[in-house]
Amino acid sequence: MQRLLQRKGKADIMSASDLTDWHAAAAAIDCPTRAFVDGAERAPRHNATFIADNPATGEALATVDEWTAEDVDDAVEIAAARFHSGVWADLDPSERKTVMLRFAAGIRANAEQLALLETLETGKPISQTIAVDVPACASTIQWYGEALDKLYDEMAPAGNDAVISIRREPIGTVAAIVPWNYPLIIAGWKIGPALAAGNSVILKPAEESTLASLLLGRIAHEAGVPAGAFQVLPGRGHITGDALAGHDRVDAIAFTGSTEIGKRLLVRSGESNMKKVGLECGGKSAQIVTRECEDLDAAAEAIAWSIWYNQGETCHAGSRLIVDRHVADDLLDRVAAMMPQFEPGHPLEESTVMGAMISTGHLERVQAYLNGVRRDGGRVIGGEPVDRPEGGAFMRPAILRDIHNDLDAAREEIFGPVLAVIECDGLEEGIRIANDSDYGLAASVWTDRLADAHRAARQLRAGTVWVNCYDMATVATPFGGYKQSGIGRDRSLHAFDKYTEIKTTWIAV
Ligand code: NAD
Repeated sequence: MQRLLQRKGKADIMSASDLTDWHAAAAAIDCPTRAFVDGAERAPRHNATFIADNPATGEALATVDEWTAEDVDDAVEIAAARFHSGVWADLDPSERKTVMLRFAAGIRANAEQLALLETLETGKPISQTIAVDVPACASTIQWYGEALDKLYDEMAPAGNDAVISIRREPIGTVAAIVPWNYPLIIAGWKIGPALAAGNSVILKPAEESTLASLLLGRIAHEAGVPAGAFQVLPGRGHITGDALAGHDRVDAIAFTGSTEIGKRLLVRSGESNMKKVGLECGGKSAQIVTRECEDLDAAAEAIAWSIWYNQGETCHAGSRLIVDRHVADDLLDRVAAMMPQFEPGHPLEESTVMGAMISTGHLERVQAYLNGVRRDGGRVIGGEPVDRPEGGAFMRPAILRDIHNDLDAAREEIFGPVLAVIECDGLEEGIRIANDSDYGLAASVWTDRLADAHRAARQLRAGTVWVNCYDMATVATPFGGYKQSGIGRDRSLHAFDKYTEIKTTWIAV
């Protein structure tokens, strides 16, 4: 646990040590099931529902309301009315900041419930949700709150006959459509800058991870976010998500999820009001280990965490290891030695590092990739499904060897704890293989040669390049992808680009 926290580099982590009985807390928990709309929990017009499952047991957790197109209309009208009323958008920045800071504090005050719900619905270990995911969501909201009254607009160069201002203004109603793998962290990346900029925001969590997100509506409202300026709508993607994506009064979509759905959202924008679409999509991120990497132990440890943390269900997981064949066996022995640390365990046990996969369907999909590799003559090390007494979707970490970059397992996003290993001869070939991908979310290079590190960082076509490390990040660093990994950036001040329009005002004097 301590190691995990150190690796994630969290300064504001919470201690989980006094929370000993998560099982008892889980048995007693009351799952939220209603949308948060116009400042209150609200039922949809019809009786549409969906089931929220616990992937660690396969049992149903709750029957959740589903917001269909008509209901979505209502929520969008409320959001738009609230935006145009100016109660949030026109608030003095220092007042909006105060509310955002109270919102962050409210998330921290509800940390146990949020973490428990997120663990129950996603199978992520409780050690991770309490110590990393919930605090990260709170810190992101806080960071944007603190930033918002320090942003200056611009004046354009002008002669004596004009004063020209260039001003950022909120877009209007933003729909944030987010995935299940880091529900609260990614929601924070969208809600933070979108609300800070003065927009009305509608959060549509993934159907697999709705429960914790539903709480955010009340927490924001109690912090002082006006009714209707932040709403949370539960529902499945093709129903609730699609209604938001095609809605003429939604002004922007902030999406994180698969490349397939990202493309669909671009189409829905074009079919409707040409709303702005920000996309954070899939990845197949390469880690290049050169023969000039002296510290193979450090590389092996980072590689193991990069692909097996969060059950490998991480968009920027280091899922493709491209290793110089001179050091391949040496390195892979060390990576394999890390596997027992990731033996799957019950998500509610604090010692568990690897929890459940999101569903048995997803587990089967990941296993199908492993079978494909076996059929093609590759070697699969580990990766066995694990039968636990409670049932659920568990598998061991896997390493794929004797494969090449043209196989599906090397090209497609598996989104599981599966490390595809491709050998290369030298850095140049490593970079060529790394860039031979439809994706470009992240990459890393391990080398002790400074010039090679700079060359690789420049040549790798990815939104983030790590040198001699992996998965290092703060909210101050932009995150997003080249190529089919997305459009735009989350985190940092660059995120405001997705949530603001730029207005030029030319005053003749
Ligand atoms: P997904 O694309 O299936 O779903 C993401 C969200 O989109 C969910 O809320 C879902 O309900 C909604 N959705 C689904 N179909 C829709 C439709 N037709 N119209 C509107 N909304 C729709 O992705 P997922 O399975 O939830 O998450 C896994 C994917 O997310 C992976 O591809 C992963 O790489 C990606 N991801 C990317 C990042 C990043 O920052 N680049 C971060 C995390 C996850």
